[in-house]
Amino acid sequence: MPKRLLLFASTTGYQIRVFADAARRLGMDLTLATDRCHVLDDPWGDRAVAVKFDRIAQSVETLRGFEFDGVAAVGDRPALLAAEAAAALGIPFHPPAAACACHDKYVARQLYQAAGMQVPWFTRAEFTGDARALARSVPYPCVLKPLGLSASRGVIRANDEAEFVAAFRRIERLGEPRLQVESYIPGREFAIEGLVTASEFQPIAIFDKPDPLEGPFFEETIYVTPSREPESVQRALVETAAQAVRALGLSHGPVHAELRYNAGGAWMLETAARPIGGLCAKALRFSGGVPYEELILQHAVGEDVSGAPLDGPSSGVMMIPIPKAGVYESVDGLEEAASVSRIEEVIVTAQPGQELIPLPEGASYLGFIFARGESADRVEAALRQAHAKLRFQIATALVTFRP
Ligand code: ADP
Repeated sequence: MPKRLLLFASTTGYQIRVFADAARRLGMDLTLATDRCHVLDDPWGDRAVAVKFDRIAQSVETLRGFEFDGVAAVGDRPALLAAEAAAALGIPFHPPAAACACHDKYVARQLYQAAGMQVPWFTRAEFTGDARALARSVPYPCVLKPLGLSASRGVIRANDEAEFVAAFRRIERLGEPRLQVESYIPGREFAIEGLVTASEFQPIAIFDKPDPLEGPFFEETIYVTPSREPESVQRALVETAAQAVRALGLSHGPVHAELRYNAGGAWMLETAARPIGGLCAKALRFSGGVPYEELILQHAVGEDVSGAPLDGPSSGVMMIPIPKAGVYESVDGLEEAASVSRIEEVIVTAQPGQELIPLPEGASYLGFIFARGESADRVEAALRQAHAKLRFQIATALVTFRP
């Protein structure tokens, strides 16, 4: 009897196909639970269940009566529903309360603090409140972030009261009711990918983020693994991720965490109850060319994947930043970029005619560059070299973004 797996996803693109291929190779039966049934390719046909990620109780009811051996999720909201569904169906996954805590920056900070972890000064406020009074009460520099958004949308650093008020007004226009203010944590930033089994965190990769992320906006660019940090720093990062996993109550499934490190040690920024997003997972490949998605499926049905070695020696991804607001037209230099030594692939995801909105209002990339090589330094250099060969044509938008 093949193992049956339920995959929660709100996209139907690349990563879902990788999951489908991985399931086929593993001889597993994969059903997709999505709110995108209307745009699914034919092969999913009766292998898709329509759910609504904003109607959790109703969606869990839809799934009752089905029998599955495991669940997996792509994206933050799908992870929330996956947790509820897994609890209702008696399948191992992160508990709903833990998935919810990951989703709420304020609750997460409170849990980290209660667990004795280092946390920056933080407070939560309503956008209906008095911005000037709030500006007088916070430490500087600080970071303002709307509660409820992700991917650095609306996250702005403020160095003084005037910048705070301007940032407050700018974020307010994004339509979220509340924001969190945190003291700014200086230092180098990292991402850790790992799998949790019986509440134990097993790191898979530490990614260095070599570009300075000092604000005022925090756009992700390069991720490179393995980390070039000394053993002691890497140990502190992994230990902090493990502490966060315990503090949040995450128990079974993938975890993606963002951390900073400075003279005061490691600081957790955010922990997500899901794997690294979308195409970036391509940067993680295991011995024999096995994609990360295959490991996630095996882990979801209770198999021991702890021995799987990463295909080395080094790999990395660059999320291609949006250089300016406008309408994407085309790109030159793709072939030159792809032929840079150690570059595996250059993928432009922007579509001609697509409106490009940079951070802090927008939140997407022009595409992704993947590299693999003998060292993290070489991989990072290759990513930068390939990026320099790309020339994007972006027309000035006639209508600017007004949230
Ligand atoms: P999101 O869920 O939108 O990604 P995060 O809280 O993860 O929000 O913040 C996004 C980015 O903003 C982080 O990766 C980091 O670079 C920066 N950031 C957030 N909070 C702080 C902080 N307190 N100090 C320094 N940088 C921060």
